[in-house]
Amino acid sequence: MALLPIKIYGEPVLREKAQEMKQEDIDDAFRAFIADMAETMYDARGIGLAAPQVGDLRRVFVVDTEQTDGDSKRRRVRNPEKRRLVTCINPEIIETSAEDEEYNEGCLSIPDVEADVWRPIRVKVRYRTLEWELKEEWLDELMARVFQHELDHLDGVLFVDHLGMMKRTALAGKLNRLKKQSSGK
Ligand SMILES: [Zn+2]
Repeated sequence: MALLPIKIYGEPVLREKAQEMKQEDIDDAFRAFIADMAETMYDARGIGLAAPQVGDLRRVFVVDTEQTDGDSKRRRVRNPEKRRLVTCINPEIIETSAEDEEYNEGCLSIPDVEADVWRPIRVKVRYRTLEWELKEEWLDELMARVFQHELDHLDGVLFVDHLGMMKRTALAGKLNRLKKQSSGK
């Protein structure tokens, strides 16, 4: 396994749309790629990572919202024994709750930036597992939040795109700095 370099805000691949996968695309090389994505996510202390964040344009992300003791997001205590990796291939949201809520989000591709983002509290989702099993289920709490954030990545959307003018203006300096750094690569 290997750690994959994480693409940072400003790198064009984060703004591209990822491509649908077919069952025959699931081979040993892809499974190895998913293992690398998981390792990269855990190493970076993240709870989700989408393929475009490591420069790959296939519609897949990995999530693990179980890897922690306690549910305080800011002071997450990680416990490797509790890891439960979920791989979502060709993910979709097919229904959302009427109510939204605000929740503080961050992103491995936008280091040191956090902001409260409004999103539906619950989402009904559909995706394929690594075994190509079709899953359809309602998600809530942190899992619903992460699923929506990661699905956005597959369409070139970042959490800061959801912010209103005031919050975006407040973050503009940090974002421009990241953009400058990543364009220098
Ligand atoms: Zn992200």
